[in-house]
Amino acid sequence: MPETLLAAIMTVLMAAFLLVVALSRWAAKIHPKPDPWDKDVDTAVRQPDAVPICRKCLSPQFPTSWFCPECGTAVGRYNNCLPYVYVFSIGEVFTAGAWRKMPVNALTIVGFLLASISEYLIFAPVYWVRLWQNLFRIRKELFATLVDQ
Ligand SMILES: [Zn+2]
Repeated sequence: MPETLLAAIMTVLMAAFLLVVALSRWAAKIHPKPDPWDKDVDTAVRQPDAVPICRKCLSPQFPTSWFCPECGTAVGRYNNCLPYVYVFSIGEVFTAGAWRKMPVNALTIVGFLLASISEYLIFAPVYWVRLWQNLFRIRKELFATLVDQ
């Protein structure tokens, strides 16, 4: 009996390993589309003298600043690596999921669910309630927009 159980466990592990290998090969073949803008804008953005802007209010930013002086959004390049500033960055992400308009698809929903579990642990369901309320609000606004057209 233990040999049968061992064989079953080994079979499941081998199947999982093959699945991971197949998924990683599939992911390696994916060529993501470049940024949503055209090549001219992409070239202009990548110039050395290009001025970084705040993603929220579009005001010019100093390359060394951590927060936008106009709206307070975390804009630094390495904010997610700094233990104290990281809290503000992740807070903006969760705020976007709970209160702001955002792209709704399976990836964003699963991402918010998993990220909230990793950040909030047992308190994650509290965040999920607000996330679902925001998703229904976004959906309701989308339907209202479609009806108006
Ligand atoms: Zn700003």
